[in-house]
Amino acid sequence: MAVPFPEQPQQLSDEIAELTERHLNPGLAKVLRFAGLDVEWYAEGCYIWDAQGRRFLDCLGGYGMFALGHRHPKVVEAVRRQLDLMPMPSKIMFNAPQARLAARLAERLPGNLQYSFFCNSGAEAVEGALKLARKATGRTKFIATLGGYHGKTLGSLSVSGREVYRKPFEPLVPGCIHVPFGDADAVAAHIDHDTAAVIVEPIQGEGGIRIPPDDYLPRLRELCDRYGALLIADEVQTGLGRTGRWWGVDHTGVIPDIVTLAKSLGGGVLPIGSFSASEPLWNAMFGDNPLLHTSTFGGNELACAAGLAALQVIEEEGLVENAQVVGTALLNGLRQVQAEYPDFIQEVRGRGLMIGIEFHEPDFGELTITNMIQRGVIAAYTLNNPKVIRMEPPLIMTREQAEFALQVFADSVVAARNLVQEVGIG
Ligand SMILES: *Cc1c(COP(=O)(O)O)cnc(C)c1O
Repeated sequence: MAVPFPEQPQQLSDEIAELTERHLNPGLAKVLRFAGLDVEWYAEGCYIWDAQGRRFLDCLGGYGMFALGHRHPKVVEAVRRQLDLMPMPSKIMFNAPQARLAARLAERLPGNLQYSFFCNSGAEAVEGALKLARKATGRTKFIATLGGYHGKTLGSLSVSGREVYRKPFEPLVPGCIHVPFGDADAVAAHIDHDTAAVIVEPIQGEGGIRIPPDDYLPRLRELCDRYGALLIADEVQTGLGRTGRWWGVDHTGVIPDIVTLAKSLGGGVLPIGSFSASEPLWNAMFGDNPLLHTSTFGGNELACAAGLAALQVIEEEGLVENAQVVGTALLNGLRQVQAEYPDFIQEVRGRGLMIGIEFHEPDFGELTITNMIQRGVIAAYTLNNPKVIRMEPPLIMTREQAEFALQVFADSVVAARNLVQEVGIG
């Protein structure tokens, strides 16, 4: 099928940019225009096309949402089938895709996280996890990490760890303490018998793809057990194969009390989030009142059908292994570029296809990203650390596509570094 691109793409671009500026977000519109970005129009596999018909290799992957790439045919097919049956729930009858998805997750998740609640975003999943922790422990305090990212609703923002997003909205939920990420001693210094939960990303995503020491999660597990606090693993970004294992916690063998998911759970086709926990915790939450926590759209048939298909594709196509293999190749290649230009790139780190490239200056990364886009590869910053650009391509990415991304990255580093030396930025 030929893609129906707009007949007058320039006119369309101008119109959409203007509408965005007037009705959505003037500042964002200016930034996108400045970066030379057009209207997104069509996507398939690892590629996105803009309205002009220009093709981009997607190395950002929607912040990790596109684990299966764009419009994976099996997910699209499952959604079409469900659409013809019933897309949204009546809320008063049993819901087949929702029950099946919960059962599949229970099989896949570590430990005995047998029950799940489905919502519509990562932030909502975190809200639910925090509420569950309070209800199950009867305590109110949370320990979270500096640079951590859990979403931007009031509750999830309260445990997120970056001042610029928090400050304008204070006071947030009381009793949230932030300690340095990767530092178990700092948690030990603050955890007590009022602590409901410690919430942590197995690898900090928006904080700049930061990998903690190997004994970090095991020590948090131990501390939580000692004080009767719950351990919440926010796997919204690290879950479902992104890091080359099914779950970010699998690198340590730690079993959390609550796991949150979202991003790629909908297969890149529909929005869906979840939080999961064991039977005793679920009884504590829903035992007296099964409707204590609800969501109108949450668990809708359409999103759950997408989720079921996504889990099946991850298994059938070996995407966890592919993330490991292609991720390792990409990481090694990026490290070689770093070794060539250590004055420009400080460090390359990552696991699987969750990779961060830290530049010495935020400007260096920005120039590199802009140049990469001109060469047809999309990458972006981590939200809480502008010195770090991320590579979180679809897990279906081939070695050849990764090779192309690497070549473009290397060329863009050279171009950006030359410019910096010429005009003396940084
Ligand atoms: C993206 C993200 C969230 C928030 O998800 P939204 O769907 O954007 O609300 C929460 N936690 C982590 C770890 C994330 O990466």
